[in-house]
Amino acid sequence: MAIDHKTRYTNKYMANTLVSGIKPSGSLHLGNYHGAVKQWVSLSDYTMFFMIADYHALTSPQALNKTAKYDMACDLIALGVHPECLFYQSDVPEHTELALLLSMITPLKWLERTPSFKDQLDKRSPDWITHGFLGYPLLMAADILLYRATHVPVGTDQLPHIELTREIARRFNHVYQTDLFPMPQPILNNTPVFVGTDGEKMSKSRDNILPVMGSESDTLDRIKQMKTHRLRRNDPGVPEKCSVFSYHKVYNPDFLSIKVACETAAIGCVDCKLTCAQAINTALAPARKTRATLSHSSLDAGAKRARLHAQETLTQVKDIMKL
Ligand code: ADP
Repeated sequence: MAIDHKTRYTNKYMANTLVSGIKPSGSLHLGNYHGAVKQWVSLSDYTMFFMIADYHALTSPQALNKTAKYDMACDLIALGVHPECLFYQSDVPEHTELALLLSMITPLKWLERTPSFKDQLDKRSPDWITHGFLGYPLLMAADILLYRATHVPVGTDQLPHIELTREIARRFNHVYQTDLFPMPQPILNNTPVFVGTDGEKMSKSRDNILPVMGSESDTLDRIKQMKTHRLRRNDPGVPEKCSVFSYHKVYNPDFLSIKVACETAAIGCVDCKLTCAQAINTALAPARKTRATLSHSSLDAGAKRARLHAQETLTQVKDIMKL
């Protein structure tokens, strides 16, 4: 008797499987740490896959930098990500093959309406509105579905991509009458978007980051250059409007004293910035010390483990699609 796909693949995925990733398009910054990595290392009870998304990095006009990719791996390991759970996306070619197969059932209009695509339409040069850039959320769906992930830790900026992944999974399951793919759930962290040194969202694509593994003097220099709102030393400040104070709130246990001192002009911006840089440097010192002991990491073990899971899913997808 022929066994239908539904029976063969039902519940084959592991409950509590988690996938997340980061683009190696620059240095790991405090926004990445608070918005993603801190949560990655705090979660347990999941089978975890963390990828350094080098294919995704190619969707930006900046050229990929191998050093940045290797540095990202060492930074993540120094922050506590287990190397066995970590891999370079391009070391697992199944990501691209699944993306191609899913592209056959993904309507173009689903990709064209993605907010990150629409947002960039009038910002990018037309030559950089590429097929790969349009397909970015589809590749992300493949990244998640390849491990039949049930959970994806993300910031709120990524929610539309998770919704699209669910639509693609639902459509695949419907078209091929299977329940191979679970519907992945976002795990949202409560961290607000971390602002950069220019007051906008901290991002590798802007020149506004505080690198987690920067030197103490680099951190101080970047904070010193930040614009603040007080025109004269004796002007009272409005800490809640100041990005430097937003860092104090995260890194300085004594931030309430800074608040009062700023509001009453008891402290000037120069001293406030100095205290802020010291607080950040003190908090990051242990991770930076560990980082200094690490050099280029191949992540072969992580890729091998990821491929075992990836190949299993891909074999089933190809069987279901009659390839
Ligand atoms: P970037 O914009 O710096 O290239 P990525 O796209 O590689 O960052 O994002 C990696 C993770 O870091 C994602 O989960 C994203 O939500 C999170 N993240 C990135 N920037 C910030 C920020 N400024 N504040 C909070 N989380 C962020």
